[in-house]
Amino acid sequence: MGLLDGKVAFIFGVANHRSIAWGIAKELHAHGATIALSIFNEDLRRRVEPLAEEVGCDFIETCDVNNDDAIDAVFEKFKERYGQLDVLVHSIGFAPREALGGRFIDIKREDFKLTLESSAYSLVALAKRAEPLMSEGGSIMSMTYYAAEKYIPDYNAMAIAKSALEACTRYMAVDMGHKQIRVNAISAGPIKTLAAAGIPGFRGLLKHFDAVAPLGKTVTVEDVGKTAVYLASDLSRMVTGEIIYVDSGYQVLGITSPRDEM
Ligand code: NAD
Repeated sequence: MGLLDGKVAFIFGVANHRSIAWGIAKELHAHGATIALSIFNEDLRRRVEPLAEEVGCDFIETCDVNNDDAIDAVFEKFKERYGQLDVLVHSIGFAPREALGGRFIDIKREDFKLTLESSAYSLVALAKRAEPLMSEGGSIMSMTYYAAEKYIPDYNAMAIAKSALEACTRYMAVDMGHKQIRVNAISAGPIKTLAAAGIPGFRGLLKHFDAVAPLGKTVTVEDVGKTAVYLASDLSRMVTGEIIYVDSGYQVLGITSPRDEM
């Protein structure tokens, strides 16, 4: 018996084999879930199709999460195919290049708005459409980062979006709690992905993280996927509104000197 036997998971945000969403898809599938995928646009299909095959998924539909009609359409297709939804995974983030790095105070209104819309409001927009399909209860999760709480160089607009995403998580957990729909976020340590490559100082950040994180290892997309299994399953049935760290222990540190210099 798999922990997720009989559950259907709708996962947004696979771009390639490095995507956190892909690590989640693999782990949810390994525990018995049926996987449905939504990708940003048709350009990604060529990369994503072979991955989808690995997890027995033939439902790959495009959706730009900044477009309400596209979101309605993709949930309509999902409903026609599966009827019921158990697990929604939002693993999406976007910020214009100009909104990452440099002085935060120079950020432009349009870039600020676009980052918040793409990376935080999109969770609300997806959850709103998922709610009626979760008539038996469900689990909604998104991916956040420590920059939501503390200053991290270069994250700028994305840091603000992650703060908003975490607040959205708490508000939706309360809104949907009486329907037994749980809403949580995973705060992952730095992982080399397409999105991460857009952060100017990411390489240095990863090096620093590796040197100081208590568990002494870089987080992988599979590590995040394993926590996603917990959040998707009944093992976390009384857990909602939480930010769960999958960060090799980094966020407990008050002083971040390399271990061998202490
Ligand atoms: P990724 O580039 O593989 O995934 C980002 C996804 O967002 C892509 O699939 C992209 O197509 C999608 N996307 C962007 N704009 C979209 C739109 N308008 N409509 C639909 N899809 C859109 O990178 P990732 O690192 O796997 O990012 C996934 C999530 O994890 C993001 O929220 C990111 O902020 C978060 N996260 C990443 C790290 C890290 O270090 N990589 C750490 C913590 C949290």
